[in-house]
Amino acid sequence: MRVIVAGGGVAGAATAVALRRAGADVTVHEAYEDPAGPVGSFLSLAVNGLRALDALGCLDAVRAAGFPIPRQRMWSGGGRLLGDVPRGRPADEPMESVSLERGRLVAALRAEAVRAGARIVTGARLTDATPDGTGVRAEFSDGSADDADLLVGADGIWSRTRRLLDPAAPEPAYAGLYSVAGETAGPVAGVDPGTFNMVFCRAGAFAAIGRPDGPVWWAAQVAAPEPPDLAAVDPAALADLYRREPMPSAVLAAATETHRPTLHHVMEPVRVWRTDRIVLAGDAMHPVGAGQGASMAVEDAAALGRALLAAADVPAALAAYEADRRARTADLLNLARRNRDSKVAGPVAARVRDIVMPLVFRRFHACATAWLYEREEPRLAAVSGRAD
Ligand SMILES: Cc1cc2nc3c(=O)[nH]c(=O)nc-3n(C[C@H](O)[C@H](O)[C@H](O)COP(=O)(O)OP(=O)(O)OC[C@H]3O[C@@H](n4cnc5c(N)ncnc54)[C@H](O)[C@@H]3O)c2cc1C
Repeated sequence: MRVIVAGGGVAGAATAVALRRAGADVTVHEAYEDPAGPVGSFLSLAVNGLRALDALGCLDAVRAAGFPIPRQRMWSGGGRLLGDVPRGRPADEPMESVSLERGRLVAALRAEAVRAGARIVTGARLTDATPDGTGVRAEFSDGSADDADLLVGADGIWSRTRRLLDPAAPEPAYAGLYSVAGETAGPVAGVDPGTFNMVFCRAGAFAAIGRPDGPVWWAAQVAAPEPPDLAAVDPAALADLYRREPMPSAVLAAATETHRPTLHHVMEPVRVWRTDRIVLAGDAMHPVGAGQGASMAVEDAAALGRALLAAADVPAALAAYEADRRARTADLLNLARRNRDSKVAGPVAARVRDIVMPLVFRRFHACATAWLYEREEPRLAAVSGRAD
């Protein structure tokens, strides 16, 4: 079976590994020459994403590219501890959440895809896809074309494949938040190594990750009703926005590096995920956010690999894959919306949040997140050589 994967990000590279393990001949077509550059700062993989990576045989490579972050602490802007829980895992789960730069995650997964026997072609974007006999013909911006039994659209939140599947597919809309992220050169008092700290501030949430080796990765998620001119966002203006909150102020005062700011987007649920020969994965299908986008992209990959191994033919496999992923991602989209709302709460809602959150975390956090973390990810056996 020949498979074309459009997009060589987290979902595309992980899908290439999974489909090689399902015995397919896989070619990834990535729009940019080097998508593994410093795009997207850092992200975290929760235990469900790590299990999916383990199912693909990629866990060690990804762990080696990042840091374990065992604890998550929530703080009010004034510095009151609202919650202290295991990060991205249940209390009794020994596997610790991993944080790493997005570029390093993509690079690690792409290396695993190539090691598994996939080809990666860069520098041209998917422009069109049409049914071709019992397969699909994909066309690219450099004028080339490729034929396959299956096209996987792992081409991100602005997916071309999604639009080809359904001309009425939803478009991303600005979410009322933008992110500015960066780093410090060394430790910052109050940000313990191995902790992910989320501070609910007047301007918007502020995350500070204490790397085990000392420096702090930070990200300000600034609430702004209209999308700002990102070129005009500067570190001094940011420090001013967070000047009244102790932890963000201390981190920003120590900041030595600021990455390119990014806008957050939301999207209505995607109605059409597949035809018999084309299917979506990752942000193209469900831009979930909530610190789960990368984990869900890897889950998609593992689920698609398993479905192709189990089903009699490609259309049946895609139907099984959609059934598996629909319910899970619908629950996650609801969780993501609640998370976003808590980050942009007005003064009254913020006060209620600061009172209620400690109780919620003490009493309900473990059972409220069990469904997310406790998913089985059976291992996909390695396939040797390239399937032709
Ligand atoms: C500020 C921010 C913080 C985040 N933090 C986290 C976090 O902590 N944890 C987490 O799990 N997730 C996080 N995410 C989400 C996570 O980054 C995404 O969910 C994840 O990268 C999705 O992977 P993807 O492969 O589907 O899409 P992408 O990573 O966007 O990759 C899509 C790829 O397709 C390529 N492409 C696009 N169009 C075409 C085309 N027509 N033809 C060929 N190639 C194409 C692109 O160049 C890109 O390489 C965060 C996102 C943001 C914006």
